Amino acid sequence: TQELLLNSEKLSVAGQLAAGIAHEVRNPLTAIKGFLQLMEAQAESDKPYFEIIQSEMDRIELILSELLVLAKPQELKIETVDLVSLIDSVKTLLDTQANMNGVHIERLYNAKNFTIKCDKNQLKQVFINILKNAIEAMPKGGIVTIELKKHSFNKVKLLIKDTGNGMPVHILRRLGEPFFTTKEEGTGLGIMISKQIVENHDGTIHFWSDQKGTMIEVILPTAQYVEV
Ligand code: ADP
Ligand code: MG
Repeated sequence: TQELLLNSEKLSVAGQLAAGIAHEVRNPLTAIKGFLQLMEAQAESDKPYFEIIQSEMDRIELILSELLVLAKPQELKIETVDLVSLIDSVKTLLDTQANMNGVHIERLYNAKNFTIKCDKNQLKQVFINILKNAIEAMPKGGIVTIELKKHSFNKVKLLIKDTGNGMPVHILRRLGEPFFTTKEEGTGLGIMISKQIVENHDGTIHFWSDQKGTMIEVILPTAQYVEV
């Protein structure tokens, strides 16, 4: 039946996740153990080893904190939230990082009240993930634009566009796969988690990309009917 099919799909994603986590967590742990052994042997010059231990620990923390969102998907803390100020706060959060990379984040909306019902922190996480990817896709700098508009009488549409390298079809097709990354330091969890969060909010997320850049569309239900 359809329900069984959904369950088996969930199981296979969980299985992929488990295997992926084991792999991802084991590598940094192996490195930590090795350097600890070296520290015992030559305690005097142990400072660089401490630094490596620290960065490997940070990586474990990053992966685990991203996974935490998935571990408790049922615990949404739903509040009435103004999407405009939520997006603005994420923009403020990332403006410095963007500037350091020669990226300008442009806000192409003047809407005042797009009230939605959502888990504020989870939705923030989605926009942080999307904007970080956009910044990371433009190593030589560029522009990210954020548009926000009515989609229908009870839906709002967000468009985030970058002027980055874009993605070929074979990468575009793999977006949302756990641990799929093309980055040296990537976790490959951002899009999967963002998709999960948006869908938990009865929304949709879609990606378009070519050599000129990438566009991400997020559609979310509004708390009240809006005039179209
Ligand atoms: P991570 O950022 O850790 O690699 P994500 O799930 O956030 O993991 O993204 C997965 C992959 O999708 C990235 O490694 C990158 O190849 C691709 N990607 C995501 N967003 C963009 C974008 N805006 N432009 C180009 N490639 C992107
Ligand atoms: Mg990412």
